[in-house]
Amino acid sequence: MPMQKINKLLIGTNNKGKLREIKSLLPKSIKIHSISEFNLKSPVENGKTFKENSLIKSKYFSKKTGLICLADDSGLEIDFLDKSPGIYSARWGGKQGDFGKAIRRVYKELNKKDKNWKNKKIKARFICVLSIYYLNKKMACVLGKVEGYISDEPKGKNGFGYDPIFIPLKKSKTFGQMKPAEKYKMDHRYQAFKKIRKFL
Ligand code: IMP
Repeated sequence: MPMQKINKLLIGTNNKGKLREIKSLLPKSIKIHSISEFNLKSPVENGKTFKENSLIKSKYFSKKTGLICLADDSGLEIDFLDKSPGIYSARWGGKQGDFGKAIRRVYKELNKKDKNWKNKKIKARFICVLSIYYLNKKMACVLGKVEGYISDEPKGKNGFGYDPIFIPLKKSKTFGQMKPAEKYKMDHRYQAFKKIRKFL
């Protein structure tokens, strides 16, 4: 049951790739606002979990704009690296959000851990926690994930972030090699959206 009828919604992300994907998943009847309309900086994400960081963002942007806000926190967990980069996924790209740098760091850490890692299946998953902060201070929060493994080398130019190195289970292509529509149908944001739809 929706806690409150939503006809306009702010999407709390500065990431264009995520904004595009989230827009494509929302009902067309909802008027979407992005934070670029408001000249706002992102809050400090000092939570210890995806859930805490997602709520920090939805609450902060909602309070700043007076709009109901949907935000996500997402990232890649690699089991062999003790679930790194996890909540630090964006930070591995440095201040400029350089995804090439983040991917090089993944390979560097894997090499550090085991020079022979390419002969192993490196299990990984993308996690997405979506949260909605309503004007009456209520919140909704859900988690979606997609399991897979790390490719021996980056492949494909589509998507963003770690897409070129992530191969979902039962597929032979990376997310970076897939057309956006193919990726969107199976990824962590889509799984989370299926759960949060009832709150919209
Ligand atoms: P956030 O903006 O703090 O949630 O950071 C999420 C980071 O995780 C992004 O900057 C990407 O590096 C990574 N990430 C999250 N979702 C995806 C995805 O769908 N594909 C590739 N990388 C992703």
